[in-house]
Amino acid sequence: MREGILEWGAFGLLVAVCLGVAAAGSGYLAQTLFTAALFVLLATGWNVISGFTGYVSFGQVSFFGLGAYVAALAMLHLDAPWYGAAVIATLAGIGLALPLGMIMLRLQGIFFALGMFGLARILQIIASSLEITGGPMGTTVAMAASVNRCAFIMVAVAATVVVATYALTRSRLGLRLMAVRDDSIAAEAAGVNAWSTKVIAFCISAGIGATGGALYVWNVGYLDPGSAFNGTIELQTILMVLAGGIGSVWGPVVGGILISILSTALWAHFPMEQQIVLGALTMLIAIVMPGGILSAVNRLGWLRRKPIWGAGVRALAAAEGYAGPAASPGPPPSILPVGAALSCRSLSKRFGGVAAVNGVSLTVKAGELLAIIGPNGAGKSTLFNLLSGFARPSLGEVHFAGREISGLAPHVLARQGLARTFQTSRLFPTLTVWETVLLASSSLHGSRAVATREAARILAEVDLIDQWADLPDTLPPGRQRLLEIARTLALRPRVLLLDESMAGMSAKEIERVQNALKAAMARGCGIVAIEHVLPAIAPIAARVQVLDFGATIAEGPPALVLRDPVVIEAYMGVEIEEAADDVA
Ligand code: ADP
Ligand code: MG
Repeated sequence: MREGILEWGAFGLLVAVCLGVAAAGSGYLAQTLFTAALFVLLATGWNVISGFTGYVSFGQVSFFGLGAYVAALAMLHLDAPWYGAAVIATLAGIGLALPLGMIMLRLQGIFFALGMFGLARILQIIASSLEITGGPMGTTVAMAASVNRCAFIMVAVAATVVVATYALTRSRLGLRLMAVRDDSIAAEAAGVNAWSTKVIAFCISAGIGATGGALYVWNVGYLDPGSAFNGTIELQTILMVLAGGIGSVWGPVVGGILISILSTALWAHFPMEQQIVLGALTMLIAIVMPGGILSAVNRLGWLRRKPIWGAGVRALAAAEGYAGPAASPGPPPSILPVGAALSCRSLSKRFGGVAAVNGVSLTVKAGELLAIIGPNGAGKSTLFNLLSGFARPSLGEVHFAGREISGLAPHVLARQGLARTFQTSRLFPTLTVWETVLLASSSLHGSRAVATREAARILAEVDLIDQWADLPDTLPPGRQRLLEIARTLALRPRVLLLDESMAGMSAKEIERVQNALKAAMARGCGIVAIEHVLPAIAPIAARVQVLDFGATIAEGPPALVLRDPVVIEAYMGVEIEEAADDVA
């Protein structure tokens, strides 16, 4: 709390001083301030797409240039006042980003980066060749009456955008953005539509860039293609975010101010060398301080990001308390489908010449646990990918909750209660234990109060509440797996797919998981569990299905299947016989 007051006190003071200088300072000071505030704005905009979602762009200047041209044309041809022109420019930026993002954000990171670079060049060529934009010579527009007024407004706009970005990082959308950046597949499994989340971030980022362009043209009163789509602006913006700290709110502010002061000073004294110094600085920062100034400050314990909606987590958990399966809310049994919760028929998946899954059928009923076992490479994980929408079957169909689901996206299925874990834990490196579970519960519940209550209840249920503010890599492996299971439970699953979830867990942790699974089953959740730790799963499994070379070689009650000579031969394990003894 006190830290927050300090943080915002310092920011408020900075903004107040800047506003004062902008209003009353000399023209030179005001202009310097305008440039610094403009760069803080541009850096903050770039950070939204490249820092928060991890999609690095080399063409953010496209939106700056577009905003500048649209604002200029609006002032020239529509007689719009500067603020009207700025609003139109911002909308134009968003309007271009929306369709573009919908296409480009399906690409992988590097192709997106290059695509954006191409966009800036294309827009520059268009601006040079049109008559209405004044062609290569550019165009003049009415500029601000005074540089002081212009700087004052620029500082106010930049400060507002910084505050709005902060609010974004404290919101559901912010949580999703960071989850997508950390691991978009895991985010999908937690019910997040990764693609639309990225598109929204891209639109916000583009809108901010375009606003910057509009204020720029109002400040200089002149625009040509070279200055609107200037690669140096792009480079400086990126440098500022890297220097300050990518992915944080304050990074672009700190970097924007420092680098713009530095580059103004360089320009005044060594205009020839300015570019060289900035370029060298970029390389130096990438090598020496990859996390930027902010990460150094964070290491001292300052300006750390606080867990989203994390106030009073312990109290919530205590109030919700884990009172056993009967008290746990869940869908009433009446809405659960009668019979199979999840089933598939003749499911096959080929990778080139390899039939990873070859005509597998399975059924799991509401409230029962089906164990899947089989040697490595038997196709178990691939089967899970087919069932949960992460891969498309070559043949066959999957039915969930009474309907055919092939072709539905993983996040849609997750929201409908088909939840899964991954064989290799997929957690979010920068999200706390609390946020990891909250992400899933908030993709299900529109109400913040319900989402936080659910997340707290589940953390209490799996005994992770004491670690609520920790990052996953500080947890021992067994607890990491427990956290992944907690994330699935937050989706109120109707069917749970667990891929070797209990590997690496202590006996106590296994007991915790077994209890949580029994509670879920009591609520009517069907579970399919791939497991190598057979003693952990056999006692609570209704049936076992054995895969080998992509096909089912045996199925039935654990006691029978685990003694089947065919199974023992395929498995060549001793453990399997021990498990058979356990359930006998
Ligand atoms: P299991 O989980 O039972 O150990 P997997 O489902 O991971 O088995 O793998 C089954 C087979 O499919 C293996 O031979 C594996 O090499 C192959 N396989 C799995 N995923 C892919 C992929 N994306 N591309 C090509 N081959 C794959
Ligand atoms: Mg596997």
